[in-house]
Amino acid sequence: MKFTVLSLFPGILRGFFNDSIMAKAVQRGLVDYELVNIRDYAYDKHRVCDDAPYGGGAGMVLKPEPLARCLDSVAASGKRVVFPTPSGRPFTQAVAADLAREEELVFICGRYEGIDQRIIDLYVDDEVSIGDYVISSGEISTLVMVDAIYRLLDGVITRESLEEESFTQPLLEYPHYTRPEDFRGLRVPQILLGGHHAHIEDWRLKKRVEKTLTMRPDLLEGEGIDEEIRRMRDAMRGTSEG
Ligand code: SAM
Repeated sequence: MKFTVLSLFPGILRGFFNDSIMAKAVQRGLVDYELVNIRDYAYDKHRVCDDAPYGGGAGMVLKPEPLARCLDSVAASGKRVVFPTPSGRPFTQAVAADLAREEELVFICGRYEGIDQRIIDLYVDDEVSIGDYVISSGEISTLVMVDAIYRLLDGVITRESLEEESFTQPLLEYPHYTRPEDFRGLRVPQILLGGHHAHIEDWRLKKRVEKTLTMRPDLLEGEGIDEEIRRMRDAMRGTSEG
């Protein structure tokens, strides 16, 4: 899969693609990427990429011409173009899985007040928000999405790691422990030391339901919840209410 990212500050993105698991995925040919500097497509003397908003108001807006030329240079019209923005649809694990099915994704990193609406009208397929808050750069929100997407690609990390993660089912993850067995008087739960695989699985599922009920009860309300999980949820609710 290829990630093409258009940005005024590609330096912010470079380190992510050059380090750790992503760097290995690139080396192994599982991921390809291209970082394109929008400023290279501003042809005036000062290579200006932003301007004041029509109608007045605070801040600056990314101009359409450099962005359009930049998008054309990467043949964006035939590809899925994502614009991370607080006014987009919420980014979730399901959206990440959907985007992970594409051969190539093009991200536009917004800055200042955002980008000219006509770029959205002409080029953008998906406006996506990483949460109900505002950060100052589309580079960070793009990296959040790229990170959630590429780790779902075949061969990047093990299937087993993905299967039990938060949100894979409508559940959060169980707690993890590693050595030492006793840390500042807090002991690793005995069941994890016994080596009985089925008991460990039962304990982990119970912890997942408990944690979800405490932190994100909304996840346990939807359709399609497994019968066993539904029973555990109802039993735990009964206990806490009784
Ligand atoms: N004026 C915009 C608004 O009120 O919706 C906020 C612009 S923000 C300061 C600059 C850029 O950061 C945005 O264009 C977008 O690319 C990115 N950004 C900020 N918050 C985001 C969020 N919650 N999700 C995705 N991208 C975000």
